[in-house]
Amino acid sequence: MNIAAFVRPNILALKPYSCARDEFKGEAKAFLDANENPFGAPYNRYPDPRQTALKEKIARLKHVRPTQIMLGNGSDEPIDLTYRIFCEPGKDNAVGIAPSYGMYSVCADINNVEYREVPLEENFELNARKVLAATDCNTKVIWCCSPNNPSGNLLNRNELRVLLNEFNGMVVIDEAYIDFASEASWLGELDNYPNLIVLQTFSKAWAMASVRCGMAFASEEVLEYYNKVKYPYNINLLTQEFVSKRLDEVAETRSRIDILLQERTKLIVSLQQLPCTRKVYPTDANFVLVEVTDANGIYKKLVEEAIVVRNRHTVLKCGNCLRITVGTPEENKLLIESLRTMA
Ligand SMILES: *Cc1c(COP(=O)(O)O)cnc(C)c1O
Repeated sequence: MNIAAFVRPNILALKPYSCARDEFKGEAKAFLDANENPFGAPYNRYPDPRQTALKEKIARLKHVRPTQIMLGNGSDEPIDLTYRIFCEPGKDNAVGIAPSYGMYSVCADINNVEYREVPLEENFELNARKVLAATDCNTKVIWCCSPNNPSGNLLNRNELRVLLNEFNGMVVIDEAYIDFASEASWLGELDNYPNLIVLQTFSKAWAMASVRCGMAFASEEVLEYYNKVKYPYNINLLTQEFVSKRLDEVAETRSRIDILLQERTKLIVSLQQLPCTRKVYPTDANFVLVEVTDANGIYKKLVEEAIVVRNRHTVLKCGNCLRITVGTPEENKLLIESLRTMA
């Protein structure tokens, strides 16, 4: 597979900005190269543009090579960069599933790239044939989200494999919720598929949404383009330090995930017993999609009681559905007690 053939000509030809921290690496007696203020260490200095130390930690945790990782200001940054690298505005297009995460189409609009939506099947299953049928010679990217937001289900592995094998372009699998899922990540398959890009984030299972740190994983060849196009200092030092420290607390994170998974099971059982519930969709994420009798009415009543869920009523195939995040035991109890009074 010739990856360079999918890349925009201007990006192929791009000579990236070379910053002071790229040109000299190591310890010096005097850093007089970047017009920094010498006072106020360590935050007076520009941060490592390649986040070497943090990537080494992530690589050990995820069993990938540090060179297979790009870090962004949340996953939103690699989502946007994917368009800027592969899709010629006004000419190329991307294909995504529906319903799914909204940022894929918003970033397509921002970049003036056509976004084609393929409805998922019954129970939000992926049909690879239908997705491939929506592509043409100008399709550069297929967006998949597994576990999918807002439906919560994992996309079928064999169907995803069909896309990876047969699509002549990049396939993104967004695994924002993978740490809550019962199946393994696609990270283990990076070396098998040169057109695979996996997205993960520290915003959900790792409980660091405010820190804004997302990850893109791909082959070294693909990642070179992301590194060329990203802002040189896109991950600030405070974030690099904070995430690095939290990565030492794997056991604590694991046990918090376990609590959320237990709470998820309890929440599903409670939801199923409510008079206002029509259907609780199976989930591999830290949220549940629930079809209720009247999503708009119930959403409004919950807001009046200062409980905020996500109303997905207007989303394709999500009529009368609320998306409910698994909270603390207290929050979940509050929600259920409130819903119990609604029909
Ligand atoms: C929450 C979420 C993300 C994470 O976005 P960040 O910018 O990393 O906070 C990515 N993809 C999906 C599908 C999500 O639901």
